Amino acid sequence: MISSQYVIIGAGFAGAATAYHLARLGVKEMVIVEQESVAGVHSSGRNAAMARQVVPDPAIAAMAREGALFMRNLPADWPTPPIFQQRGSLLLSSGAGWQKLVRDAEMAQERGVEVECWSAEKAKERVAVLEDAEFDGAVWCSTDGVVDIHALLGGYLKIAAIAGARVLYGRSVCEVEVLNGRVAEVKTSKESIKAEVVINAAGAWTGAIGKLAGALEVPLRPLRRHLFVTVPLLWVNPSWPFVWDISHDLYFRPEAGGLLLCPCDQDEMVPGMPPTDSTVAELLADKIRRYLPKASDVAIKNSWAGLRTFSADGRFVIGWDPKVKGFFWVAGLGGHGMTTSYAVGGLAARLILGEESRFAKEFSPHRFL
Ligand SMILES: Cc1cc2nc3c(=O)[nH]c(=O)nc-3n(C[C@H](O)[C@H](O)[C@H](O)COP(=O)(O)OP(=O)(O)OC[C@H]3O[C@@H](n4cnc5c(N)ncnc54)[C@H](O)[C@@H]3O)c2cc1C
Repeated sequence: MISSQYVIIGAGFAGAATAYHLARLGVKEMVIVEQESVAGVHSSGRNAAMARQVVPDPAIAAMAREGALFMRNLPADWPTPPIFQQRGSLLLSSGAGWQKLVRDAEMAQERGVEVECWSAEKAKERVAVLEDAEFDGAVWCSTDGVVDIHALLGGYLKIAAIAGARVLYGRSVCEVEVLNGRVAEVKTSKESIKAEVVINAAGAWTGAIGKLAGALEVPLRPLRRHLFVTVPLLWVNPSWPFVWDISHDLYFRPEAGGLLLCPCDQDEMVPGMPPTDSTVAELLADKIRRYLPKASDVAIKNSWAGLRTFSADGRFVIGWDPKVKGFFWVAGLGGHGMTTSYAVGGLAARLILGEESRFAKEFSPHRFL
């Protein structure tokens, strides 16, 4: 039997960033268990790779700012070349939504994020494909950008491994044994691991892992979202920012000489590799026709879907379980888990090591008691 003080379930952004921070804080003995044969098979490798700092929830926004700052200023020992393309972002909105977006932008500014409110005309000058789109205004954030998600995930795991973490791939956690109200052992499809602390970072499966441990029933829902990539398009400027039409739930950014597009669909799914649904391609075509008419004739060459897992109030779930001692949640990262990963891992690691931390209360699982 293997024995390790800390066992992390899941090698996505939640688990990898927690391992990274535990390592930075001096923890040498930890095991990460991942059911797939490599990291990043699920949400962490299937997302849109956009770091967005203007978000409505103040606690998540602060985490996003911290995460983006980290990616723009990687530590000297980071194992891969720069991973962040600072192309900026444009968030578009109309009507009452525009007033709300301006307030979110002001909040971001108060937190130190550089933002500007632009007229629709100025936004159209910056991103020509918006020419015939209708919106009241745009929020420009110059420090947002696009991330090499595999290099970010791999960097966290490599630095944790250098400190002593072991990543065990290709085995699924099937039992969390609890003795006298405290976690004692994790059983995988290949071995048993004696553990003092079990960190539940299993993405869409966090609810199922919680059940295995008899932990609090945290309300978590995996929602599927599709992404589409067009064929190369001569008129796409690769230096465009990512553009998110908040009023109409449609976003796009340059990708591989064409565009990556998303109609912001969200259908509840069971944990797993979500199947793609052809009706979402129709939804995308309809949204493009109505809200991005200049791009109406684009041909799609590739599409995929992934799961974004949300708690009932939309906030992350980070903290000790109220029912089972030694069981720790890093769950419900929704649509912000890549951007906020550095801050999420930092908060989790500090709480695991018994330190105080900002936002401990906002993200605590105790709110679902
Ligand atoms: C289409 C889409 C677009 C997105 N766009 C963005 C974006 O632009 N910016 C952004 O910040 N975020 C974005 N996100 C959100 C982001 O990808 C997620 O919040 C983040 O990846 C969640 O990370 P995680 O580690 O919690 O989950 P995951 O990446 O799913 O990792 C969980 C891991 O746990 C493993 N696991 C599960 N059960 C077990 C078990 N029993 N035993 C062992 N291992 C197990 C899984 O195999 C998996 O590798 C997007 C998500 C999607 C789907």
